[in-house]
Amino acid sequence: MQSISPGNIFRGNDAWETSIPKIKELTKSPLILGRSFHTSNLRKKIFIDLKNQSLDVNAANLQFDCCYEDISRIKEIILKNNHDSVIAAGGGKVLDSGKFIADSLNIPCVTVPLSASTCAGWTALSNIYTKDGQFIKDVALGSCPKILVYDHKFIQSAPSRTLASGIADALAKWYESSITSSTINDGLVQQAIQISRVLRDQLLIEGGKAYKNQFENNPSWRNTVEACGLTAGLVGGIGGEKCRTAAAHAIHNAITQIITPNKFLHGEIVGVGLLLQLRLEEMKNNNKLADQLIKQLLVFMKELNLPTNIEQLGINVFENNNLEKIAHFTCRDKSEIHFLPFEINKCDIVEVIANFEQQKIKT
Ligand SMILES: [Zn+2]
Repeated sequence: MQSISPGNIFRGNDAWETSIPKIKELTKSPLILGRSFHTSNLRKKIFIDLKNQSLDVNAANLQFDCCYEDISRIKEIILKNNHDSVIAAGGGKVLDSGKFIADSLNIPCVTVPLSASTCAGWTALSNIYTKDGQFIKDVALGSCPKILVYDHKFIQSAPSRTLASGIADALAKWYESSITSSTINDGLVQQAIQISRVLRDQLLIEGGKAYKNQFENNPSWRNTVEACGLTAGLVGGIGGEKCRTAAAHAIHNAITQIITPNKFLHGEIVGVGLLLQLRLEEMKNNNKLADQLIKQLLVFMKELNLPTNIEQLGINVFENNNLEKIAHFTCRDKSEIHFLPFEINKCDIVEVIANFEQQKIKT
């Protein structure tokens, strides 16, 4: 069974208001799930609007991450109060937790992304982390959310950094799916890969303009946030399991194993993973275009103030065995790195990262 998209999608400037009657049809007693202080006013608005519709509404916050500790605690709140749905309002971690909890309790989930940092509002997937933010695994869920509310005025209030992060994560779709899945003889997978190529082109053309002027009245901003939050999800929906991630996400997952005082966003780490994936393609797959692609991406990523190496993610790979740890996790048995059409071992990862971190890249 493949779940391609959410049951209903509301998008645009008044998406939240327009979605309320549909939400009312779905639920009588929702739990609103959130996390960060930054989004508390928006969640308060969602709470009050639903309360005004005579819904028996309650709210809870994640304490850490999309982790088993928070998931168990929130599940108990839902069971104790007989909530009949989860409304996840926040970034990727909140959306993933809400979807996972709703799926495991067999109740519907409504996703309300509050930034463009992720396509988690769309997908039937949750990434599980430890409470310190170390990646554990991704879990395929029974279906996409019942309702996705992609409200532009909510998204516009997010920090600009979340937009850059969403762009990097969405860009990775093309670079990862085209190398892992282009040999798959399945029309839908091929079409999903083609959509991810158009998505990449649109982000390269409009992403910079969107980042510099993050307002609803900027068409580039509107196109870019919808590319990150909707189209990237559609690629996953149509491509399904076969439209796979590869080295960029495998390296992201490995980097999260190193706990740092400052947390970086998912797409910020994936962006660095993407540059490293291209170096691997150059070294192991004799890809002569990879160096040009890296140079092109570096210019773009700097325009968006994205980190471009692991050091900028607050990690010195030459200390504390960090390089070993990253290489080990990247190459573990279940890693997506093995979806690459060529063999990769720990020494390759060590070599590529060591060279990359030592290089003083000039653009
Ligand atoms: Zn991602």
